[in-house]
Amino acid sequence: MANIIDGKQISADIKEELKQEVARLKEVGHSCCLAVIQVGSDPASSVYVGNKKKACAYIGIESLAYELPEETTEEELLAIIEQLNQDDHVHGILCQLPLPKHINEDRVIAAISPEKDVDGFHPQNVGALVIGQKGFVSCTPAGIIQLLKRSNIDIAGKHCVVIGRSNIVGKPMALLMLRENATVTVCHSKTSNLKELCSQADILIVAIGKPRFIGAEYVKDGAVVIDVGIHRDENNKLCGDVRYEEVEPKASYITPVPGGVGPMTIAMLMNNCVEAMKSSDLC
Ligand code: NAP
Repeated sequence: MANIIDGKQISADIKEELKQEVARLKEVGHSCCLAVIQVGSDPASSVYVGNKKKACAYIGIESLAYELPEETTEEELLAIIEQLNQDDHVHGILCQLPLPKHINEDRVIAAISPEKDVDGFHPQNVGALVIGQKGFVSCTPAGIIQLLKRSNIDIAGKHCVVIGRSNIVGKPMALLMLRENATVTVCHSKTSNLKELCSQADILIVAIGKPRFIGAEYVKDGAVVIDVGIHRDENNKLCGDVRYEEVEPKASYITPVPGGVGPMTIAMLMNNCVEAMKSSDLC
């Protein structure tokens, strides 16, 4: 039987810590503000944006909502970002992805000031992670590091296999595990011996984006299994990239879906906002 890593509880702990820190900083005259931009009204994006606003309200971070119509041009969006970059009252800028097809996401990400890039997607922040400098880190992989650390799971010297190499999850995850002194293998759709590599992992991080793809045959006895995936199955129930009921008896630790990695993303976004405010206000 595996220990279940309770992402809901760990995320609640982090949010509570941030709430106290924000209250303390407010008392000495520093307040924190996040600008959240949404272009169009994709229902999933609206849910994510709503959850981010709720988390801000809980922690005591002011949130400014920019709900822009689908037809917004790239130039109009870039002008708003530039205005927010210049606004000293705003510490973090988040542009909810995906953007409508006529807007170039890379240009938008690059337009956000790296000091306000609380999503950690700006090339300067990604580069800082590669060379081990300070900068904002993508929230989902940063949250997974917190899950491991707060569950007292040793990372240094362990063999970590990451399945997936996306810019948002797989690549920053691999770099963070390397920074924590794991020996890291990154797998992707062209990896020829996926099962063999996965079954050598002490820590297996699955961000493959395919519902219930990873079964017991991919997992070494006693491995730590982190499931990043989030999907709706044929019964409209949430599930991950891992076949939980099969893998759980073999693992030493495992994240459930829901209630594992998912809640950590927003907690780390809030953490990045507070960090942005502390750096800009030198507190
Ligand atoms: P993505 O951009 O679709 O990337 C999937 C990765 O898996 C790619 O690198 C792909 O390889 C690799 N892959 C696909 N099929 C494979 C196969 N058969 N064998 C080995 N590798 C394979 O997805 P993502 O954005 O990283 O997200 C991954 C999952 O995490 C999704 O389910 C997503 O919904 C979830 N997610 C959750 C959170 C959260 O907060 N919980 C946040 C972000 C994402 P190639 O590069 O070769 O195509």
